[in-house]
Amino acid sequence: MTVSVASEWLNACSGCEIAIVDMGERLLKILELVEFVHIPVLMDNKYYGQTGERHQLRLPAADVGIISGGVRNEEHLEVAEEMRRQCQTIIALGTCATHGGIPALSNSYANDQIVDRYYHTESTDPTQELPHDGVPALLEGCKALDEVIPVDVYLPGCPPHPDQVFGALAALLDGAPLPLRDKSVCDTCPTSREGKGRLAQMRRFLHAPKYGAADEPLDKMRCLLEQGLLCMGPVTRAGCGGDAALPRCIKARVPCRGCYGPAKPDGNQRMEMLGALASNGIDITSLPESTSLLRFSGAHGRLRPPLVRK
Ligand code: SF4
Ligand code: SF4
Ligand code: SF4
Repeated sequence: MTVSVASEWLNACSGCEIAIVDMGERLLKILELVEFVHIPVLMDNKYYGQTGERHQLRLPAADVGIISGGVRNEEHLEVAEEMRRQCQTIIALGTCATHGGIPALSNSYANDQIVDRYYHTESTDPTQELPHDGVPALLEGCKALDEVIPVDVYLPGCPPHPDQVFGALAALLDGAPLPLRDKSVCDTCPTSREGKGRLAQMRRFLHAPKYGAADEPLDKMRCLLEQGLLCMGPVTRAGCGGDAALPRCIKARVPCRGCYGPAKPDGNQRMEMLGALASNGIDITSLPESTSLLRFSGAHGRLRPPLVRK
């Protein structure tokens, strides 16, 4: 039996769709079993009919709906709601869909602040105005998908590793449980840990004189957090290494930035990371700011514009 799949991208950069294509030859195997009935990255399918004859947005019905990107404007909301109506199972693909992702950093500002900055104070043409004709209105903030519609399956990652995309689709097709990990990046990291750091102050990555030689085996490299570098591994969900399990940034000797979102689905990467720093003996006041600890998970009300006293 062929399974029909519809895919949509909302407030997305298309990296998650590229992860689907990055399955490589495995995509051919999937294509033997599924029929993509709607996938804008590959096929043209007009929301309002091929000649614009419909007055209401409509998408084809599908067994599985894959949605990447968060929800930032009224069009995203309308598409998400139509996907939910038309698809039996909804997969939130990528950290933008599961936790807001990078675009939800804008949640630190009110819409009028963002528009003013973009169109006036930092524009090369401060006389221009925000276009309104045919442009969907912004919602108040960038939302994760499950803030507007029920979601059945969460596949975080910026982007998710193609092995995970394949594993999830294969499991769905087999009717098997999804191969979801319940671990942090640290749980899959081979670096050497001594249990406590030797620095009480954070070091800036670019200023660190030596944190791991390129030819040093990873299991001989000291944990980056214990070296005083801001590595978000303790509070970030594992999986970015795919089947190989080795975290991608650590493999490149770069601290984890947290792109898989919180280790626990409803975790708060900022609060948990501040706790991890403190328990590693690092003075959290040596962090220049903490908003960026939520750079991948600012939806669900985690990031909000500061209250303005009148
Ligand atoms: S999760 Fe990352 S790759 Fe996917 S749409 Fe968002 S920014 Fe792009
Ligand atoms: S903090 Fe970073 S370097 Fe240290 S174990 Fe965790 S992921 Fe590895
Ligand atoms: S190590 Fe962290 S930031 Fe790097 S790819 Fe993995 S989850 Fe993302």
